[in-house]
Amino acid sequence: MSGPRLWSRTFEPGPIHLVRLATGEDILDALTAYVTEHDIRAAWIDYLGAVRKASLRYFDQDRLEYCDFMIGRHLEVLAGVGNVSVLDGKPFVHTHMAVADDRGRAFGGHVNSGCEAWAIEVSIQELKGDVPVREIDERTGLGLWGGDLG
Ligand code: ZN
Repeated sequence: MSGPRLWSRTFEPGPIHLVRLATGEDILDALTAYVTEHDIRAAWIDYLGAVRKASLRYFDQDRLEYCDFMIGRHLEVLAGVGNVSVLDGKPFVHTHMAVADDRGRAFGGHVNSGCEAWAIEVSIQELKGDVPVREIDERTGLGLWGGDLG
């Protein structure tokens, strides 16, 4: 009997870090610096708040490449979600966020460097166990947990 092809691993909960980013901080850079400094190699991340501008990416599944875009205005961060795993031997933050403008219109995407915090509150849930490692998955061309699943 063969089930679905997937990668999975089980963790125990570690400490939860509550972190507030200063105005003007770059969200991705600040989160990466925090997990690197604290040697967090497996975690789940949630955040909310507001940004002065958003720098996001969309992955084109036909062309297998990212399309970058900038929303150069003040936005609410409705929901930021992400994880920490290991890429090239170092902690790597992968995060997406949904943002909304002054009329409640929502946008979102993969968070790139260039998202400038106005006020951001973050929860980082450390995960204790065999850390997930990102390797190239041939089908998607992305660095994903467990690499190629065939
Ligand atoms: Zn992504």
